[in-house]
Amino acid sequence: MTATSPVDADRRFVFHPFSNAYRHEREGATAMVVRGRGTRLEDADGRQYLDAMAGLWCVNVGYGREEIADALHRQALELSYFHGFSSMATAPPALLAEQIIARAGGSMTKVFYGNSGSDANDTQLKIVASYNNRRGRPEKKKVISRDRGYHGVTIASASLTGLPAMHAEFDLPLPQIRHVSAPYRLWNAEPGEDDRAFSARLADELDAMIRAEGPETVAAFIAEPVQGAGGVIVPPEGYFEAIQRVLREHDVLLIADEVISGFGRLGHWFGSHRFGLEPDLITIAKGVTSAYVPLSGTIVSERVWKVLADGPEGVFQHGYTYSAHPLGAAAALANLRLVEEEGLIERAERQGETLRALLRDAFADHPLVGEVRGAGLMAAVEFVAERDPAVRFDPALQVAPRIVRASLDRGIITRALPAADTISFSPPFVVTDDELADMVAGTRAALDQVAGELT
Ligand code: PLP
Repeated sequence: MTATSPVDADRRFVFHPFSNAYRHEREGATAMVVRGRGTRLEDADGRQYLDAMAGLWCVNVGYGREEIADALHRQALELSYFHGFSSMATAPPALLAEQIIARAGGSMTKVFYGNSGSDANDTQLKIVASYNNRRGRPEKKKVISRDRGYHGVTIASASLTGLPAMHAEFDLPLPQIRHVSAPYRLWNAEPGEDDRAFSARLADELDAMIRAEGPETVAAFIAEPVQGAGGVIVPPEGYFEAIQRVLREHDVLLIADEVISGFGRLGHWFGSHRFGLEPDLITIAKGVTSAYVPLSGTIVSERVWKVLADGPEGVFQHGYTYSAHPLGAAAALANLRLVEEEGLIERAERQGETLRALLRDAFADHPLVGEVRGAGLMAAVEFVAERDPAVRFDPALQVAPRIVRASLDRGIITRALPAADTISFSPPFVVTDDELADMVAGTRAALDQVAGELT
């Protein structure tokens, strides 16, 4: 066996997620990241980066936190693994569930653990199916999601995801999944339509879809409080109020996908608290461990639990080898302690305000910027060929990916969001004012470079 470098081994042997297979095999990794501290990363060539995306919206407490590493070390020595099947249990997931339930509030009562946001959303669909089968409503199975919703990549969760490119390659969505319009002001609001009118129109669209399908066939509606990967789309005023009125009328469950927004990114423990959602089920992942190790969950409300746990017969026929992994839970407990002790949720809100102000100053008046938007510590800048009325760039120009690439050349990591010329910002909560200023200055310089190339 020939000894190869990690860079060479990666190019030759790794099949990368969401990457161009052909190009990766020829050109290799864009960067091989080897070290992280706070908001800063270093690659194998010693280049430094500011991570404006906290990985994939997930390293909330920042890289290199000893408290989490120590908790993992201690737990690995004490009990590296045991499962939760057949009512077996370990201590960390039990203590974590108690904390999650306390913070979720409302009528939340139980946590089912998984490994990723995608598998947690699959679990949601199974819970919803079991709920309606047990209620004697086997025909009530359709789930409505939204265009530009991002809910994962498994067969079911990719079906929920409202991005056509993620369907076309794999013959999705599944037949029981539907999509309604996103609350995407820039492209979906009528000229002169205010927030309330726009929200009411979107709720009417949902109502019409449920009636057309037959309310007796529609089981659930899934939504991120702020659509993340689909464009950092912040709900207009009155949106969730109007949507929830429709759901209640038709006995349709609400699943809040809080994979990004859970545990502080929107300045509250849960995004639902900020935007007035009263979900029946909540999906969590990412921020629960700040991605030190994989862990996800579905939080179940009393309304659903009552049905699932009604009667001694039957076993819930679902679970992962790693459901309730004690290492994941130990990391999560240490992570939540840091979030609380360091006041990181308040900090996320504060740094988010600073970030949005910096972005507005740097970008809002630029002729190629259609919108600067965000909430909490999530923000985006969307680029347009023309501003008023907004006109999209030809997708072949790859404007956002080029700006991301030009930012990377300046040591700033952002992301180009799919099917829109949008770049996103979602840094660790520990990001400093100076780091935010450097991120914005670097991406603005990248825009100037790409704008110059376009003329
Ligand atoms: N749900 C939301 C809102 C997400 O943002 C993501 C990932 O970005 C997922 C689900 C899927 O999570 P995972 O990539 O852990 O499967």
